[in-house]
Amino acid sequence: MKCSNCGFENKANLKFCKKCGNDMTKPPEWFCDTKWHIKTLSIIYIVLIIGYFAISAFLHKLPPPYDQRIIPEEMTPWLYPHKTPEP
Ligand SMILES: [Zn+2]
Repeated sequence: MKCSNCGFENKANLKFCKKCGNDMTKPPEWFCDTKWHIKTLSIIYIVLIIGYFAISAFLHKLPPPYDQRIIPEEMTPWLYPHKTPEP
């Protein structure tokens, strides 16, 4: 049985590690390794990228704010320079 603390190969029925005295009866603690980091980070990045494009596509389907209200031409004559104002 391998020691979870120092990696020393002990006999299977030992309660404590022969080299460092680590308690062998308790299960080894879980540590996040490089593989776990790559997997978790890739999931986070994929969710963020897909979420960005999904929200972006959703927002582009909404009407732009300029179309939500219609201002009469008489109030904004500078937007229509080709039209001459009526006397
Ligand atoms: Zn040990």
